Amino acid sequence: MHKKLLEQVYKASDFNLNGHILIEQLTSHLEDKTNASSRNAINWNEPEKELEFWKNFLTDGDKKDLFSEITKRTTYVHHPHYMGHQVSPPAPVTALTGLISSLLNNGTAVYEMGMSSNAIERIIIELLCKKIGFDNTSGGFLTSGGTLANLTALLSARKAITKRDIWNEGNQNQLGIMVSEEAHYCVDRAARIMGLGEQGIIKVPVTKDFRMDTDLLESKFKEAQEIGIEIFAIIGSAPSTATGIFDDLEVIGEFAIKQKIWFHVDGAHGGAGIFSEKYKHTLKGIELADSVVIDGHKMMMMPALTTALLYKNALNANATFSQKADYLLTDSEHEDWYNSGKRTFECTKNMMSIHWFTLLKLYGEEVFDANVTHLYDLGALFAHLIEKEPNFELALQPMSNIVCFRYYPSGMDEEHINALNVKIRQSLLEDGEFYIVQTKLKGSQYMRITVMNPFTTELHFKALIKKINSFAIR
Ligand SMILES: *Cc1c(COP(=O)(O)O)cnc(C)c1O
Repeated sequence: MHKKLLEQVYKASDFNLNGHILIEQLTSHLEDKTNASSRNAINWNEPEKELEFWKNFLTDGDKKDLFSEITKRTTYVHHPHYMGHQVSPPAPVTALTGLISSLLNNGTAVYEMGMSSNAIERIIIELLCKKIGFDNTSGGFLTSGGTLANLTALLSARKAITKRDIWNEGNQNQLGIMVSEEAHYCVDRAARIMGLGEQGIIKVPVTKDFRMDTDLLESKFKEAQEIGIEIFAIIGSAPSTATGIFDDLEVIGEFAIKQKIWFHVDGAHGGAGIFSEKYKHTLKGIELADSVVIDGHKMMMMPALTTALLYKNALNANATFSQKADYLLTDSEHEDWYNSGKRTFECTKNMMSIHWFTLLKLYGEEVFDANVTHLYDLGALFAHLIEKEPNFELALQPMSNIVCFRYYPSGMDEEHINALNVKIRQSLLEDGEFYIVQTKLKGSQYMRITVMNPFTTELHFKALIKKINSFAIR
């Protein structure tokens, strides 16, 4: 009986049949959403009701509705009204490469279980390093998300800078990192995982335009040293998630060189700007970094999760998880590029490199320039429209496709303005025609868009602004 069931599970003809049906369904989904034929970017449902639905579906739902119900009950990232979190509407062909990865399931950690994906990964890494401006001592790998990549980079930093064998012997000293107070929360988490504690996270305040205040670097560093904190790394955000503002990588990089500490660039969102002729200036100084993170699933049109972690010196990547101290690694271990599991946190890793390679092969690297440049242009356009609106205010001039703004009628006090903006955002969510998010900046409540969809236009922006105006006066 078990055998029969398993035979049924693995039946190739069922795969073919369901596959064709699914492709048909997803194709209409894509056509419908990208053309904005259906009104909404999200059909909001309360969590308890959603849970109830799926409990009932498991017992009573019709199997043939399974895929279509899942599709329907999502946030439509391909809809031009989707301007929410920073995940890309994946280029449809990368959904197909995802299918290949899922079916072949070659866990890429060892070369024998991922020949093509390891070789392809090396090609991708070399391209990214070259674009950053690293020389041929550089290297890196792909890993599962910016969060894990940031943690991995900080582990590499600790090993390279402290000169003690903390990996084997544990740590007796109070170590620390320096980071902007606006950095992504995952950096804070990484530091705590590494046992730095609150006191080991030296938060550098931001200027009024939300960049790390680099005038404070020396004094913050000294203060920490004086109370016995050994700082081994500084992190620049490129850009910071909440505001989309880039830290001054050049100044931070020079500071790191002077203090002989590691310089890590969290370019999860905007690192892809290395491909943009128009916007690569936002990353000026990135070549000074010891390590750089770039997410494929944010500005590079790929499905989650796939993140590049690039090192100025590839040896530091090899040493991170090595039981031996760096100087004990043999040359052959250094050269063992094709077993990526030695350098990554994860053991089994999907064949994520094929997304990058497929886009590169089909469209060339210009496709990354096109996407980043177009989306950043749209961010500037939206900001421009907001500036022209009488009852709106920009939080800051955007440097990317992330724009923070609020409804700001004159004569209303701060408390009511905060409450009103929260209310408007909630009304937008429940209405569903547009999907945007919110953020708190220096204690004030802002609405926040990230233009992720290249088919969002000025008309869509104007419709959003009109809708916000109508919700504001209800
Ligand atoms: C999104 C983001 C992260 C987290 O990356 P994941 O891939 O979501 O784990 C880290 N830092 C910045 C600046 C980000 O924008």
